[in-house]
Amino acid sequence: MLRLDDDICYLKGIGEKRAKLLKEELKLFTVEDLLYYFPYKYVDKTKIYRISDIHSSLSSSIQLKGRLGHFSEVGMGRGKRLTASFSDYTGQIELVWFKGINWVKKTLKPGAEYLLYGKPTLFNHRFNISHPELELLGENTEKETGIQPVYAIPDKLKKQFITSKQIQIAIKDCFAKGFDFQESFPQSVLEKQSLVSGFEALKQLHQPDTEEQRLASEYRIKFEELFYIQLKLLLQKSTRKARYRGHIFAKIGQYFNQYYKEQLSFELTNAQKRVIKEIRSDVNTGRQMNRLVQGDVGSGKTLVALFAMLMAVDNQSQAAMMAPTEVLAQQHYESLKEGLEKIGIKPYLLTGSTKTKERKEIHQGLLDGSISILIGTHALIEDTVQFNNLGLVVIDEQHRFGVAQRASFWKKNSIPPHILIMTATPIPRTLSMTLYGDLDVSIIDELPPGRKPIVTTHLYDNQQPRINKFMREQIAKGRQVYVVYPLIKESEKLDYKALEEGFWTLSEDFPVPDYAISIVHGQAKAADKEIEMQRFIKQQTQILVATTVIEVGVNVPNATVMIIESAERFGLSQLHQLRGRVGRGAEQSYCILKTSHKLSKDSRTRIEAMVNSNDGFKLAEIDLKLRGPGSIEGTQQSGVPLEFKKANLLSDQNILTQAREVVEQILEKDPELKLSEHSALKATLKQRYSSKINWSRIG
Ligand code: ADP
Ligand code: MG
Repeated sequence: MLRLDDDICYLKGIGEKRAKLLKEELKLFTVEDLLYYFPYKYVDKTKIYRISDIHSSLSSSIQLKGRLGHFSEVGMGRGKRLTASFSDYTGQIELVWFKGINWVKKTLKPGAEYLLYGKPTLFNHRFNISHPELELLGENTEKETGIQPVYAIPDKLKKQFITSKQIQIAIKDCFAKGFDFQESFPQSVLEKQSLVSGFEALKQLHQPDTEEQRLASEYRIKFEELFYIQLKLLLQKSTRKARYRGHIFAKIGQYFNQYYKEQLSFELTNAQKRVIKEIRSDVNTGRQMNRLVQGDVGSGKTLVALFAMLMAVDNQSQAAMMAPTEVLAQQHYESLKEGLEKIGIKPYLLTGSTKTKERKEIHQGLLDGSISILIGTHALIEDTVQFNNLGLVVIDEQHRFGVAQRASFWKKNSIPPHILIMTATPIPRTLSMTLYGDLDVSIIDELPPGRKPIVTTHLYDNQQPRINKFMREQIAKGRQVYVVYPLIKESEKLDYKALEEGFWTLSEDFPVPDYAISIVHGQAKAADKEIEMQRFIKQQTQILVATTVIEVGVNVPNATVMIIESAERFGLSQLHQLRGRVGRGAEQSYCILKTSHKLSKDSRTRIEAMVNSNDGFKLAEIDLKLRGPGSIEGTQQSGVPLEFKKANLLSDQNILTQAREVVEQILEKDPELKLSEHSALKATLKQRYSSKINWSRIG
């Protein structure tokens, strides 16, 4: 009997040398690793077809047994190919090779009998099979039958003669010897969800008896993967709720009411009202709020945050709002200052460029409680910033901050402050269930009334004259224009060159004194950025040339045109964020995506998606399909695994929802997994997600 943590080198056909390669290249160290190294495909060798039985409705590969005929080479140059006939007692079919012709000629023997595996396709009204797998039939061939697993083998291992077959043999050996596998799911879960046992699932995935059993096993593994990640997140949440007290904001007071009645020049949308209510009920429970507010760009998240802050102030607590950039922090400060001052609250701004003297005053005011609302950047997290009674922290545009930064606010008070996270990165529901699985989520799914959808156009670089004409028309109407350049780390120098050249060309096309242009980019000093930004906000300039520093949150309602240079180099969610900088006022707004004529297939898909849709959630789904979950902004810092061996967050949404429900039921009954029936669950969870050093992996 093997143990799951036994070294793979003792398995049949492996040995020291191959074990070393498997460890290096595939991270397969133990019996368990190997058992969870699943085949990437299967070939069905249950049946041998007769050539006369081949018909057009066969959609997959089949097996044939027959004799290989002579080779002939046809065609020239790129059209060159090798053909040979293959015949059994019922008929004949043509085999074709387009690549590796010399190798095929050298290794295959015309006239010999082969077992063939391949997919017949119809060509010129006749069937042929291109690049078949051929296995010489001799006296000693061990015939494969049934559904056969195929394991992915990196080239480096293939060169050392490690094949899929060898993995198969080693795994067979595991099952022959037996291993100490323990089922982690309670019987009740297995039954209710009709799951096959963990052992059966492993067995069927490596050595399927039938396609049905293989699929049932795949389901079990997917369920298990998604189950444990949800268990981890929801257990965190229930433990936190059980252990931490939260501030109680018992009343809606004078500040809130006064702002609501006197300072709003418009009606809140129903979605805004709903989310404010959700926050209101959170902060009154005695538990710490950890809420994520998701809302497309322009949906009015700032106001929701403001009302949450007023709840804190009305209940003698301080509130802080943290933005990812100075430009944004400054802008939040400017936009909130006037209204707040009118109701008698003076907000303060703290960023990296706050002068020492002022900084000291702010530190003092926070400590003695005379400052009730603070807006700023990362500077807020610094240890020197101490509060009198911090009750609420708003984190704007969450994806720029990691989980660790979120947690650092907890230390600023004996009772951890309520946390409200605002993000405009629309994340498909399944992903947010995982990424933010330990948070409560509110969605602002409505834009303020009167917003016109932004008209998006794709134009090529040589159409600049047309773009200039359009810009002049818009500027003549009093509107403003953004021109954004990509800035990618790897080609930073070239990017700045493009930005500078673009700026000079625009300066010639839009000369002073009729026009004025601002320029803002990452290399500029904070103070310069600020001056340039303010000139644009105050409408002293009509055009803002920038890198993506303006991507998040900037709000200039009078700007109606967003021109994105080299749009093919941006990701979809970034494009949508940038586009969201316009369409914020009552005027019709436009987004022009400029690209070169050469576009990859993916770039074209992205550009087309942008032209066809204004819906951030829809675009996020497309992005997820194009790039996979790991590439979505914010996911890297999350520390939550998003790629699984079997499960796929996009296509397995139903399984995820089910797994989450089961987890919720379990935690409702047993919030900290203390019952004995859940001990295996707890142990498995710990094993999967603990960062303990695994000595077998070192060396
Ligand atoms: P985001 O959700 O992208 O952060 P903002 O909070 O910056 O959006 O709001 C965008 C604009 O919409 C701001 O100018 C804000 O004053 C305005 N706004 C917010 N809520 C409403 C509303 N209910 N009706 C009309 N305009 C609104
Ligand atoms: Mg915002």
